[in-house]
Amino acid sequence: LTERMSQAFKNLTGQGKLTEKNMNDMLKEVRMSLLEADVNYTVVKDFIARVKEKALGEEVLSALNPGQMVVKIVHEEITELLGSEEVEVHYKKSGITTLMMVGLQGTGKTTASAKIANLMKKKQGRRPLLVACDVVRPAAIEQLQTLGESIDVEVFTLGVETKALETARQAMRYAQENGYDTVLFDTAGRLHIDEELMAELSDIKALIQPDEILLTVDAMTGQDIVNVAQSFHDQLSVTGLVLTKLDGDSRGGGILSVRSITHVPVMFVGLGEKIDDLDVFHPSRMADRILGMGDMLTLIEQAQEKMDMEASQKSAQRMMKGSFTLNDMLVQFQQIKKMGSLGGMMKLIPGFGKMASQIDDARAEGTMKKSEAILLSMTDYERENPACLKASRKNRIAKGSGTSVADVNRMLAQYEKMQQMMKMMGGMGGKMPNMAAMK
Ligand code: GDP
Ligand code: MG
Repeated sequence: LTERMSQAFKNLTGQGKLTEKNMNDMLKEVRMSLLEADVNYTVVKDFIARVKEKALGEEVLSALNPGQMVVKIVHEEITELLGSEEVEVHYKKSGITTLMMVGLQGTGKTTASAKIANLMKKKQGRRPLLVACDVVRPAAIEQLQTLGESIDVEVFTLGVETKALETARQAMRYAQENGYDTVLFDTAGRLHIDEELMAELSDIKALIQPDEILLTVDAMTGQDIVNVAQSFHDQLSVTGLVLTKLDGDSRGGGILSVRSITHVPVMFVGLGEKIDDLDVFHPSRMADRILGMGDMLTLIEQAQEKMDMEASQKSAQRMMKGSFTLNDMLVQFQQIKKMGSLGGMMKLIPGFGKMASQIDDARAEGTMKKSEAILLSMTDYERENPACLKASRKNRIAKGSGTSVADVNRMLAQYEKMQQMMKMMGGMGGKMPNMAAMK
């Protein structure tokens, strides 16, 4: 890095690296905390080993001590393990979409079936039918019927005399004849996995070939969830998870164990006994909860914001002095990207309101992404000395960034315009507010 850039980044790094020694204490604490959150012992062991390997040798960000750096990495890893993407039900393009609810008794299958049916009906315009395939206890059928009534969704049942498989078969025919586009099968559970239950579920699966098989996982569940999840997944190939009873005060580490076994997404979260107590899954929030180091996480977040602010402030100061290089442009782009829309940001700058309203955000962001790719394909020397960019260098940069020489030239023209603008504003007394300070 050139001197100027390295100066800017000195505040971001330079506290040394993570070592076995400076990580150990904190990793021990993390391990304890995960076990307290009921994450399975083996899962914790593997997890810690992986984090250790990954973190070893990483630069410690300034404003953080090595312990905090470890927690930051752990938090990122848990979030990733929980699954970062928001996943929706896979509806069939045409024909009837089928969902099967499975899980141990009392984990919340029946409640979740009704909650999900309600959401599909109200928010997604589907026509769902609920099917009572838990025919062991009459109370189970009644429970589903009561829930169905409350959300005005029909419940198909043939009573306790008919086998679950036969109920499923006739329910499918009923759905076809009556124009339902989504069918949710509420199945029986047991207190423990048993072969009879698994055989029944396998038969139903073979018959209806569900588009989704959702396993309910009680947030209050303990260490043995690993075996439960493993057998359900082995026998049925679960496609998604429903995390229930997250409104309780358990930290819900069981879901981390289940994710690490099934690798299927958490599609819904149950937050109470009422029908509307259903949410989508927020991996980062869940990671906070499982890790249980709230104060430390807040501290790390604040430190990070402060560092972002400092880097951007430095770069802004340099710009006002008229020494605005392509490196500064890159820093600013990355800052803008972090803050969301370009137009939205410019509205906050005095005098830029009108210009901001003329910015087509999608297009501006597209251009910016391209420019960023071009900048990243340059060497540091090139970014610091744009004058050296002759044809052969431009060619290489265009290739490297998957753009054209024309794109590179356009970006350079944009840079020159920005540079002039910065000089002008600097001349006006450097009144342009710092970008990061406007968050
Ligand atoms: P199933 O045996 O798997 O069908 O479980 P149920 O749907 O009958 O739920 C068992 C109990 O847990 C019932 O008393 C539900 O009201 C309750 N329950 C289900 N989901 C939730 C939830 O998200 N939060 C809370 N607090 N209770 C729940
Ligand atoms: Mg039930």
